[in-house]
Amino acid sequence: MSIVENTRKTLDNAEKLNGELNSFLSIERDHAMQRAAEVEKDGGDRPLRGVAIAVKDNICTKNLQTTCGSRILHNYRAHYDATAVERLNRAGAIVVGKTNMDEFAMGSSNESSAFGTVKNPWDTTRVPGGSSGGSAVAVASGVVRASLGSETGGSVRQPASLCGIVGLKPTYGRISRFGLVAFASSLDNIGIFGATAADVAGVLGVIAGRDKNDSTSADVPVPDYRAALDDDVKGRKIGVPRALFGEGIDDEVRDAVEKSIDNFRALGAEIVDVELPYANYGIAVYYIIATAEASSNLARFDGVRYGFRAEGSHELREMYRKTREEGFGAEVKRRIMLGTYVLSSGYYDAYYAKAQKVRALVKRDYETAFANCDAILTPTSPSTAFKIGEKSDDPLAMYLSDIYTVSANLAGIPGVSVPCGLSGEGLPIGTQLVGNFWSEGVLLNLANTYEKAFPLAARPKISVA
Ligand code: GLN
Repeated sequence: MSIVENTRKTLDNAEKLNGELNSFLSIERDHAMQRAAEVEKDGGDRPLRGVAIAVKDNICTKNLQTTCGSRILHNYRAHYDATAVERLNRAGAIVVGKTNMDEFAMGSSNESSAFGTVKNPWDTTRVPGGSSGGSAVAVASGVVRASLGSETGGSVRQPASLCGIVGLKPTYGRISRFGLVAFASSLDNIGIFGATAADVAGVLGVIAGRDKNDSTSADVPVPDYRAALDDDVKGRKIGVPRALFGEGIDDEVRDAVEKSIDNFRALGAEIVDVELPYANYGIAVYYIIATAEASSNLARFDGVRYGFRAEGSHELREMYRKTREEGFGAEVKRRIMLGTYVLSSGYYDAYYAKAQKVRALVKRDYETAFANCDAILTPTSPSTAFKIGEKSDDPLAMYLSDIYTVSANLAGIPGVSVPCGLSGEGLPIGTQLVGNFWSEGVLLNLANTYEKAFPLAARPKISVA
């Protein structure tokens, strides 16, 4: 099929499924068809020539909408491409649309989007996970093979797990954050979803690497991740922190993840015990640091510089106040207030400064553990996809769904979620592998070998035929 035909088919599929799934906030037909014609004509041997990609709506795309799932940016169009998008374009990929998300990437279910919740294609009464739920569903439903999401505390790995696909959070600094709308800058990453680990590897190789526009991007060589997938995990050491398999985790998830440990052993990996004594502080530390940074980053949305401005104010401060009151949703306001509180004088030392110290201990846990293993295996999420509405009135229950993912963001290390089984109700379960700095290649090789040997036994109910 030609690139133009293939792109048209992708756009048709996206439109056909979006009524039911709501995974796209915009389907960019004109832009994509024009790009397809250009890429087709150019010829050449570009690594992602003609590959359709969906992009989370907090990653800037020139002349296309970038709403961050928020009313306050409902009419915002960026005038530049994020570096990751620019590199995708240069590699011949075609952005077909922008995907739905929790408002400003704050959430684990996609229910905080100002534009309606995303449905899980395995069961449309359930959430897809979040905050990159739209990007996860665009891949899980078969519309695209790969998409970009963002990760501050698990927003790629957790929805990947709940939707039965592969999701990678790279090392902090591996992919430029230029053009990713900031939530918590010391934790934010662009992440990648793929139908398979090889799809993720293909995208990572193109977008990773130093960028002069992001001083936190690292000057570390970018290997050919795809070529390095060799289906061999013999002798790899996988650490299992048994203490984290206790309370608060669904039995079915525990069983499936235990089974994945046996399966890795069968593939030739060596399983060793590791300890992460500070892991249980991850959630508390994360929700202090992430909210503190968010309260500062989101100060720029004031009705003057971007997007929405409230009507009917007679004076500047009133205009700021009304714009933010009407423009932000409840979860974003909750985070801004929590973050302002933990940074305020008198509380700074007790909360923010303390959290930074514990963050260093979480990181040290991993340094110790990686002296004895190549990757650490845990569940990605303590449960399968929950019902829409089940946790939306209980922020703490929602925050607890990040228990296995936030620590990697605090430490800055990479992690991948790979499907490892189905629950009794036929919902996917993910197993997570976290690795040392710059070990994306090792993680993707483990994921690729696993998914080929132990593929899921079913497909989502709603997907491209
Ligand atoms: N669920 C987490 C939160 O709400 C993580 C979000 C993210 O990774 N963007 O903060």
